[in-house]
Amino acid sequence: AFVFNEPNFDAHEQVVFVSEPKSGLKAIIAVHNTHLGPAMGGCRMWNYASEAEAVTDVLRLSRGMTYKNAVAGLPIGGGKSVIIGNPKTDKTPALFEALGEALERLGGRYVTAEDVGTSPADMAHVAQKTSFVAGLGASGDPSPFTALGCFVGAQAAVKHQLKRDSMEGLIVALQGLGHVGYDYARRLHAAGAKLVVADIDQAALERARRELGAEVVPVDSIYDVQADIYAPCALGATLNPNTLGRLKAKIVAGAANNQLATADIGEALRQKGILYAPDFVINAGGIIKVCYEYLSKPEADVEAHVRQIGDTLAEVFARAEREGLPTSVVADRVAEQRFKPA
Ligand code: NAD
Repeated sequence: AFVFNEPNFDAHEQVVFVSEPKSGLKAIIAVHNTHLGPAMGGCRMWNYASEAEAVTDVLRLSRGMTYKNAVAGLPIGGGKSVIIGNPKTDKTPALFEALGEALERLGGRYVTAEDVGTSPADMAHVAQKTSFVAGLGASGDPSPFTALGCFVGAQAAVKHQLKRDSMEGLIVALQGLGHVGYDYARRLHAAGAKLVVADIDQAALERARRELGAEVVPVDSIYDVQADIYAPCALGATLNPNTLGRLKAKIVAGAANNQLATADIGEALRQKGILYAPDFVINAGGIIKVCYEYLSKPEADVEAHVRQIGDTLAEVFARAEREGLPTSVVADRVAEQRFKPA
């Protein structure tokens, strides 16, 4: 009973193991919760060291999608799929078509999209066999919407924590100038914030220096910057026992997934007086955009929906303060109230 005992197994509605020998597809599809609508979440392709590792990943990620989608106020549930294989060497059209056939058999209970290790081009092969696939890139990269959500989320955090309506003069330590990070940095700069940035990509750093007047620090020094806001936009688990004692910022507001190394870090941040904008609330702009596209909802309404992330965070911050709880715990509860049937 390995799957049922897995610590991340959390009343998942359905977990499907797919094997298709002709294409070599080995995939796991986890439908966590469909109370609010069909489960939506990306398809990750990864060279997992073991099948157990793949199971753990898909269970954890699918559960996370339910929380993210529910808090974002979307009419969809949470799910995820993983393909076991090397995304650099094992991709073929047949592999993704076989996944499409498996999704078709699920009859729309799960809708996939691109994720780590997969691309819009891969999803186009999935779409040969099923319509239960979103984010084909038809209207472009969703990252700018993720960046917008981060920006309005940071504004809400500044208002709550610093009692200020403006970003003017605030120092933001921003880690990762990628698709989301750079656009977020641009917005912060336009709002008068001062940027201190780190990345492993020299070209991105150079551009930020030139276009945004950013100060560049070495990759590991970003945690020590005397900043008002720490904005993690690169890797997960950057809020951990090692970095906690180093952060000077009073706000954490960034796009990265799974920022808390362990759940108890949420309480540690609260005790240190650092206001944490829960990752799955602040970074939902991209899924909002993808969901609108999939459901053929008006594109003109996407921005207003993404801007609601600011209001949602303001409510989470206020409730966390009132109840003396970490913001991460409050955000979970807000989600659960929406997706758990009464
Ligand atoms: P990306 O790959 O475009 O950008 C990541 C950036 O981080 C790159 O510039 C990379 O060079 C840099 N980086 C890598 N290692 C680093 C390190 N050690 N220190 C500093 N910088 C480092 O990815 P993205 O799409 O911008 O996403 C960024 C984060 O936000 C990821 O955690 C992603 O899961 C999350 N996220 C993205 C979206 C989206 O719409 N793209 C939505 C939700 C969450």
